[in-house]
Amino acid sequence: MNLKDKVCIVTGAAGGIGRAIAARYVAEGAKVAIADLKAEDAVATAKALTEAGPGEAIGVTMDVTQEAAVNEGVAAVVERFGRVDVLVANAGIQIVHKVEEFPFEDWKRMLSIHLDGAFLTTKACIPHMKAQGGGAVIYMGSVHSHEASPLKSAYVTAKHGLLGLARVVAKEGGAHGIRANVICPGFVRTPLVEKQIPEQAKTLGISEEEVVNRVMLGNTVDTEFTTLEDVAEVALFFAGFETNALTGQSLNVSHGWSMR
Ligand code: NAD
Repeated sequence: MNLKDKVCIVTGAAGGIGRAIAARYVAEGAKVAIADLKAEDAVATAKALTEAGPGEAIGVTMDVTQEAAVNEGVAAVVERFGRVDVLVANAGIQIVHKVEEFPFEDWKRMLSIHLDGAFLTTKACIPHMKAQGGGAVIYMGSVHSHEASPLKSAYVTAKHGLLGLARVVAKEGGAHGIRANVICPGFVRTPLVEKQIPEQAKTLGISEEEVVNRVMLGNTVDTEFTTLEDVAEVALFFAGFETNALTGQSLNVSHGWSMR
């Protein structure tokens, strides 16, 4: 379970959950690429994490929906650190609408960021992992990889889709020591979630307090948000687990919201 000097790429790591995972990996001594659309934030995050040590981080500008940008970003990481041991495909956004009101452009954007992003980063990293004799691919799913909620057709579809991708990568990667697993967090108070609270209150015609306590946390065992640290801990576990015994799996970290 040792990440010292392991080379990790975390997408969407300039903020939120991705940043927390990158910070946890750097704290374990890993060399981490903060791959994000937001170039300046990626560099600032990398600087802050490197200062905290003992590992190091670099900022890599990457739009995960663009194949050329993904390939260039992964090549830059390999050029700098020589290998790729761990990929965390985490970049994601949220757009909520009822199905019949969902703009098709928004639907396509959602699927592109979550699914194209996971596919393209995996495709770019696998040749390096094969050449090295193994690696860990981790997808940021959600409780919505297993459950459904109103207004989230695109998100739920994409997050369910990641389970399929992980299972195929696990099967294709088995002979090469490449493992693929999915982390499925419940609600974590990141900007992505903060934005949804007023939006859902408006669409559902209820108060923001009700959105939090009933819609977001109503099915947990204790009405508690999952924390960034909780998710980072699971990301560390999947990254450091070194055999094919743990592959093709998904793990809910959600205060019991989903028990599947
Ligand atoms: P966030 O908005 O705080 O951070 C997302 C990051 O992704 C940002 O830094 C953003 O710049 C980056 N990003 C967006 N589009 C990108 C693109 N095309 N290419 C590269 N980077 C891009 O969000 P978060 O809450 O930290 O979510 C991270 C992941 O966790 C997402 O996949 C999300 O679906 C998942 N998730 C979040 C929660 C939650 O409650 N916050 C729960 C379950 C799963």
